[in-house]
Amino acid sequence: MKLLKFQKPAQYVGGEFFSITKNWQEIPKKVLLVVPTTYEISGNSLGINFLYKAINSRKDSLCERVYFPLEDYKKYLFETKKVLTSLESHRRADEFDILLFSLSSRYAVLNIFEMFELLGISCEKKPVCIAGGVATMNFAPFENFFDAFVVGDGEEVVGEILDIFSQNRENFLSEISKIEGVYVKGISKKVKKRFSPLKTEYYPLTPIIPNIRTFQNRLDIEIMRGCPNNCAFCEARKFYSPLRIRKPDEVVWLVEESIKNTGWEGISFLSLSTSQYPYLIEVVSRILPLLKRKAISLQIPSLRPDIKSLECILKILELNQVNITFAPETFSKRLQKKISKETSFEEFENVLKELKKAGFPDAKIYLLIGLPGEEEDDIAETIKAVKELSKIGLKLKISLSIFVPAPHTPFQDEKIFPVDRLEAHIEKFKTLMKRVALKLPDISYALIESAITTGDENVGKILLNLKGRDIFSVDRWREEFSKLGIDFDEYIRRDFVGYYPWSKVIV
Ligand code: SF4
Repeated sequence: MKLLKFQKPAQYVGGEFFSITKNWQEIPKKVLLVVPTTYEISGNSLGINFLYKAINSRKDSLCERVYFPLEDYKKYLFETKKVLTSLESHRRADEFDILLFSLSSRYAVLNIFEMFELLGISCEKKPVCIAGGVATMNFAPFENFFDAFVVGDGEEVVGEILDIFSQNRENFLSEISKIEGVYVKGISKKVKKRFSPLKTEYYPLTPIIPNIRTFQNRLDIEIMRGCPNNCAFCEARKFYSPLRIRKPDEVVWLVEESIKNTGWEGISFLSLSTSQYPYLIEVVSRILPLLKRKAISLQIPSLRPDIKSLECILKILELNQVNITFAPETFSKRLQKKISKETSFEEFENVLKELKKAGFPDAKIYLLIGLPGEEEDDIAETIKAVKELSKIGLKLKISLSIFVPAPHTPFQDEKIFPVDRLEAHIEKFKTLMKRVALKLPDISYALIESAITTGDENVGKILLNLKGRDIFSVDRWREEFSKLGIDFDEYIRRDFVGYYPWSKVIV
């Protein structure tokens, strides 16, 4: 088959630096890591590399990968009835013992059934299918389509699963149901989220170097897992808790080793709230000479608008241009209290002024609309604050997102706003912030996301019926729900009386 006729063909051929192809005949336990997002999105995901290393470092196991294809290749596979094969040895999914699905986002959930089809496996007859990732915080919508779920950190659990792997499916599933963090359909009643210590030996020091440019085209270095804050809407904090902090010596060593091994020209610190990493300034100061010498750039995402962030930004400015991004979510003081994420306007203003003085041209600000209890006054207060900040002279890029209730958070009982209210609030931003670059949210996607985050087996039926076709059309979701006799818009705003679909997960 001539792959060259497809967009970015190198993503389908494998053979990347640090990918591992073991002798198929000699290795008894074979795992296919299924990533239902594209290579461009997940090709250098650190999470995937953690699992790849955990499995491939075992003598008795091998791990190969497959990613969701781009539209043209997907169409070709469906039309010619060919299947997606693994990148390493180009084998079919049904030749593996275990398919390990990485559901790192709700977006990945939308691709599950198309992925099954592309891999040529049916829901009824397939290798043992296990799913992990943030989306398993509520696995009720897709519980019927997997044998088991790993909830929480995977780097230790995956080894424990492989320790007891056997070809006897029933025995194997029964045994893994005893592992903390594993839920087996039909056997387990509940599952307690699992977390692993951040041991240096688990760290993938030779991460796969993608064959093509990925969206996140740099090397992530994990400095901290979990978040010291407790924003009421935040699911990531719950999933990655408890807070674990890498020691500065370890981070410096990880940077040095990773750069030596991979030759990446850019690195980024990975954590949910980087400016609260207690050793940030120390680590940056220590790695700066190496980065300068080798002309390697450093990005520090998830900054808070405070003095410590400013100090850090100014430090790395001698190295490279820094993308300035803050996520205050709202400038309404009342709502800030309610969501437990308080940002002082004065401090924010000072930080932006200092950045302007330092020569920065722009800053990106993430805002959330439709927050529980949000009124017109709150929107007005936020817009007024943004207008005030834009007088500083920095070009402000405002990115609006829509609040979607997430399981296991203090806001799990809250509802996504009805469409007309969301439209009205977006309209306000559009009319009142004409001079500010505004990125608008996708209402349809937020409604679908809300169905998945708070959904039950009804959502699974829709996913199965749609099989990826028109999956982003909220009207198709409405149609499919009405076939079940359910009003979609009422469903996503329903009350949970005495039961949550995600109650099998204990966080
Ligand atoms: S929103 Fe950000 S700062 Fe708040 S808890 Fe979540 S990760 Fe932490």
